[in-house]
Order: sequence, then C-alpha cells, then structure tokens
Amino acid sequence: MKKRAIYPGTFDPLTYGHLDIIKRGLCLFDEIIIAVADVTGKDALFNLKERVEIVEEVTRDCKGIKVESFNGLVVDFADKKNIRIILRGLRMISDFEYEFQMALTNRRLAPRIETIFMMPNEKYSYISSRLIKEVSLLGADISHFIPPYVEKVLKLKFKEKRKCKS
Ligand code: ADP
Repeated sequence: MKKRAIYPGTFDPLTYGHLDIIKRGLCLFDEIIIAVADVTGKDALFNLKERVEIVEEVTRDCKGIKVESFNGLVVDFADKKNIRIILRGLRMISDFEYEFQMALTNRRLAPRIETIFMMPNEKYSYISSRLIKEVSLLGADISHFIPPYVEKVLKLKFKEKRKCKS
C-alpha cells in the first residue's frame, strides 16, 4: 500500500523552507498531497488559485507530489482523501506552541489521524513567507529564500499592487 501524507498550509508564497520539508517528506512517503488552504481570517497576498499555481509550478518535477486546495478542517480533508498522516514543518521554538495546540486539537477531532513534524535544514529554519513578503517589499534580495519562479511572481504582484494604489 502507498504511504501517503498531507502537507497543509497557506503557502503565501511557497519558500525554500516549505520545499525542504516536502523533499524530506518524500523520503518517508510515496505520495504527499500539498493542501493549500483557502484562508479566511488571514490576509493572503496571493489568492488561492495563484498559491496553488505557484506550488504546482515549483514542484512540477518532484515525483510523488499532488497539489490540491481545501477549505474547512484539515482533518476532514484528510478523511476525504483517506489519509492518516498530516505533515508539518517545525522551524523554531516559536512554532512549537501553535503547532502543538493544532496537532492536539486535530487529534481530539480525529484520533485516527497523526501529525508528524520535520525540521528543515538550519539554513531555512528562520524563513517565513510573511517575513519574505515584508523584506521583499522593502527591496531586499530574497533569492536565497524562494525559488526564482516565486521571486518573479512576487515582484509582479507588488508591481500590480503599486499600480492599483496609484
Ligand atoms: P500555515 O498558515 O498553516 O502555518 P504556512 O504556509 O506558513 O502555513 O506553513 C505550512 C507549514 O510549513 C507549517 O507547518 C509551517 O511550520 C511550515 N513551514 C513554513 N516555513 C517553514 C520553514 N522555513 N521551514 C520549515 N517549515 C516551514
């Protein structure tokens, strides 16, 4: 039987940190569904379709990856897909509290589903999509943090936003 997992997140946008977790996950699982969340409550720079397209484009050559979007509870999505493992990345201690709460909540909601955590290479352990957006907007070189395709669409997005404002 195929070993499958779901890697859920906002991916706004995908970074080398996410990619690192995906690659490590592929050493453990035959198939990973990258589940891009249709975030309400959270302000996303890229809309759902764009975030899915970015992940698809960057993972195009990775065997064993599927990209899907979902809304609602991750555990419901996992159930629908008949998958019992949720994969998450842990960067710093600061991630721990939120991830711990989330994993235990999900366990309470769906005891059959396990969450497993992987740590990225330390060179990616401080990268977050939020910070990349902030520093990129201020003109920083972000090529060490995100793949070239993501850098291109991020720059286009900021350009588009600036145009809308003026
Ligand atoms: P969410 O809004 O669900 O936290 P993110 O896209 O920010 O969505 O993150 C998805 C998952 O990837 C989370 O488990 C997060 O901790 C992990 N992640 C994000 N950035 C990194 C990184 N640089 N290294 C390792 N894991 C990361």
